[in-house]
Amino acid sequence: MNQKEVLEVFKETNVLQEGHFKLSSGLHSDRYLQCAQVLQHPVEAQKLAKALADKFEEEIDVVVGPALGGVTLSYAVGLALETRTIFTERKNGEMTLRRGFQLNPGEKVLIVDDVLTTGGSVQEVIDVISEFDIEIAGIATLVDRSGNGVDFPYPIKSLLEVDVKTYQPEEECPLCQKDIGIDKPGSKKETD
Ligand SMILES: [Zn+2]
Repeated sequence: MNQKEVLEVFKETNVLQEGHFKLSSGLHSDRYLQCAQVLQHPVEAQKLAKALADKFEEEIDVVVGPALGGVTLSYAVGLALETRTIFTERKNGEMTLRRGFQLNPGEKVLIVDDVLTTGGSVQEVIDVISEFDIEIAGIATLVDRSGNGVDFPYPIKSLLEVDVKTYQPEEECPLCQKDIGIDKPGSKKETD
């Protein structure tokens, strides 16, 4: 899948929405990104996961993703790679491996998450799995919106790099300046 095909799937499935949005931070943006929108469609999700898996030539033994955002995509990537797939989750605020999930010495691990923003959740996964004698093969995300501001000593691959600009409401926001009404994320726009 090339970037254009990925973008088409993202637009069709409402992952990438354009408009005038108020983010949970209170800032305004002309784009809204919600990867769960495509992951609710297993067939499309599997195509994306396959494309992402294909970016890693190295042999992978295990895929691991952080709950909840990384679970669905990890599973799809694990299916594409035909590997075991596990997830980390929080207990009392701390990221951990539960449910008897284990990593075996020497295993090559691929970390998968839906979106890379600050790299915080990926770092938490690295901290958890580094307690095992494993090798990290890389980091795979559907969308990289980090603006190359994230640095890990492993290959980072994504299907799409997106720059989501945010603005303070009103004076700073070009959409407020144009008096454009606020859109509710998730509501599909009737464009034709
Ligand atoms: Zn605005």
